[in-house]
Amino acid sequence: MTQETLQVNARSYRWMLRPIVIVCVDGCEPAYLDAAIAAGVAPYLARMRKTGADLLADCVVPSFTNPNNLSIVTGAPPSVHGICGNYFFDRELGQEVMMNDPKYLRAGTILAAFADEGAKVAVVTAKDKLRKLLGHKMKGICFSSEKSDEATIEENGIDDVVNMVGMPVPSVYSAELSEFVFAAGVKLMESSRPHLMYLSTTDYVQHKAAPGSPAANAFYAMMDGYLAQLDALGATIVLTADHGMNDKHGADGSPNVIYLQDVLDEWYGPEKARVILPITDPYVVHHGALGSFATVYAPDEFTAAQWIERIKQVPGMESVLSRAEAAKRFELPPDRIGDIVVVSNRDTVIGTSASRHDLSALEVPLRSHGGVSEQRVPLICNRPVTGIASSRRLRNFDALDIALNHAQ
Ligand code: ZN
Ligand code: ZN
Repeated sequence: MTQETLQVNARSYRWMLRPIVIVCVDGCEPAYLDAAIAAGVAPYLARMRKTGADLLADCVVPSFTNPNNLSIVTGAPPSVHGICGNYFFDRELGQEVMMNDPKYLRAGTILAAFADEGAKVAVVTAKDKLRKLLGHKMKGICFSSEKSDEATIEENGIDDVVNMVGMPVPSVYSAELSEFVFAAGVKLMESSRPHLMYLSTTDYVQHKAAPGSPAANAFYAMMDGYLAQLDALGATIVLTADHGMNDKHGADGSPNVIYLQDVLDEWYGPEKARVILPITDPYVVHHGALGSFATVYAPDEFTAAQWIERIKQVPGMESVLSRAEAAKRFELPPDRIGDIVVVSNRDTVIGTSASRHDLSALEVPLRSHGGVSEQRVPLICNRPVTGIASSRRLRNFDALDIALNHAQ
């Protein structure tokens, strides 16, 4: 049964008149698009920006992958959906735990809501870690490039994916992992023509290659070709990013790291503070678990207030906030962040203890994200967008609002 509009997480969305494709390009600092277009390797993206809508938006902070992907598919910030990192300290369990289990989700997705009303929905992600969250309680197709050879009708709503896409299963550390997402999206649009499709890549290339570099331009040229095919198949495309990406190293190529656990241990003695890095995940090769955002657990609120004043003095810090301040400013769930939220500046990252980070796997100077400095992302559409007030602060999680309410 189709209806005029759907209400999801207190926002309304019009039913789609033609297929909608939302693309989340992981780590897409706006300069990547500018550079690829200037180099002439992304003619479709150039056309999309010229004849459609060329906007910028703010992602959610921490500018990490999971909080932002979940914001885009729920149309809401982490204070609503609950996912504010890859990793947090579960005070009830007294343990540091991964937050990629759907049990931590506090809101339904727009994707699931449309599927429940009869829309054909398809989700393709690069890494499998996101698949279960994005596809939570969603009827339809949902699989990852990483585990594409394991897809079954029962679990993923589709099987024989590798054959359909016509590409071998890529390495989890490769540009091809993202290419597989786009190739699958085009094949799905040709065969089953979903009403709503969500494609989400990985930032393997963006962690290594700066805007305009050969590897970056090759990535955007690849993407350009697939987007042109989706456009030719009649889809409305909205492209955004989960976060940007910046250099986080000095002139000598070594990373600018504040090892905050070491700093606090030196000041106050061991085992007083607990520093949590919500960027931590099983795939750390390309960033060594270093990003520009950390949370700190203190013994009590009074102590936290004293620590905040002192941490602010550490060179490279941008904002040091109490739990309440951070929850308000960044729209975060207060029960899943520490007593202190620490954001470092554009060229600096935060670690725990130096001994807990293995930087030997970093093959190139560190590029990473997590801070306010990576909050600006593209928000572009292949059709003109109307009815957006010029004063409105656009967010990447307005992508479905733009596609459904303002571009059709
Ligand atoms: Zn990301
Ligand atoms: Zn990343």
